[in-house]
Amino acid sequence: MTIAEKPNLIGMPRAALESFLVQLGQKPFRARQLMSWIYSHGFDDFADMTDIGRPLRDELARCAGIRGPEILSAQESADGTRKWLLRMDAAQGIETVFIPEAARGTLCISSQVGCALDCAFCATAQQGFNRNLTSAEIVGQIWLASRELGPGPGGSRRITNVVFMGMGEPLANYRGIVPAIGVMLDDLGYGLSRRRVTVSTSGLVPQMVRLADECNVALAVSLHAPDDALRDELVPINRRHPIAELLEACWHYASRRNHRNITFEYVMLDGVNDTPAHAQRLARLLRGRPAKVNLIPFNAFPGTRFTCSPAAVIDRFRDILMARSVMTITRRTRGDDIDAACGQLAGRVQNRTRVRLGDRLHVGASHA
Ligand code: SAH
Repeated sequence: MTIAEKPNLIGMPRAALESFLVQLGQKPFRARQLMSWIYSHGFDDFADMTDIGRPLRDELARCAGIRGPEILSAQESADGTRKWLLRMDAAQGIETVFIPEAARGTLCISSQVGCALDCAFCATAQQGFNRNLTSAEIVGQIWLASRELGPGPGGSRRITNVVFMGMGEPLANYRGIVPAIGVMLDDLGYGLSRRRVTVSTSGLVPQMVRLADECNVALAVSLHAPDDALRDELVPINRRHPIAELLEACWHYASRRNHRNITFEYVMLDGVNDTPAHAQRLARLLRGRPAKVNLIPFNAFPGTRFTCSPAAVIDRFRDILMARSVMTITRRTRGDDIDAACGQLAGRVQNRTRVRLGDRLHVGASHA
């Protein structure tokens, strides 16, 4: 067995780790010790795990690994935001961003190398899609960021929130994210509450319905347009799951979470989706529902044809929603100077598959 083939214990849910230990002839409670060393202490060497007897430490070193991602580059913004480019394979890189705020620290993680959904205004889409990340690679981002951030002021737990708002469409990698979320929520993993883990989706309806039953973490939905004609253009998955179907899945999701709000993300594109009429239509969709709106000032990237709405237009849009009792905030742009803001994560995507979702949808439409 080569080193690369040894199972990586990072990102392995507790039950899987327990069965792994049982296969080695060990007691399942050893999983507690291992998880505590891996996640609370950030260790990657079995030799340092002092409450585990030497024979077992040696055995684990022979047949398992604790392998975090490798840092290709690290940047820090003037506002304290940090971004890491992490190597996934020889040619691939994904990005992870840490956003410090007064009362919390949010880690924005990636779920795929690239993305296939082809949203018109997103830098990741331009990269195309290479592959899904494994649970180890998803949790590995938290493991690595925790190590890099170190024991900051207020204790070692500087990452209080995790959002799947980096590269990729998390619900298109359902099998990767569910075990990873398990480790995030596990007391012996990162012990985060369901309210502090947010899956952001462009609207993969069947997976939203599954997630409601299986994980029930906080949900953010990239709406970006109040009608199908415009959303078809901006977020091509809309041609498969139009707004009415998407919103139905949202209200179902909310009903499974004691009617906690769904966050609707809405990127502000100058002259495209930002008029008072758009705001009024959006308010009609969301009014009286468990919904809040996050307006995201568009972040530019090389080659984009969009520009951001002026601040006064964003304020007017917000005021129209608020006047109709739709809770709305404008997301503050963070890490713009290091290209770490929403939609700017490009990573390093090689050997991408030629077919992106938008292309497939075009093909499908021509047969219809
Ligand atoms: N695939 C997931 C995660 C994407 S990133 C999703 O679609 O929700 C998180 C948010 O950033 C999404 O709402 C996405 O639409 C938005 N976004 C993408 N490009 C952007 C850009 N250039 N400026 C601002 N927000 C952008």
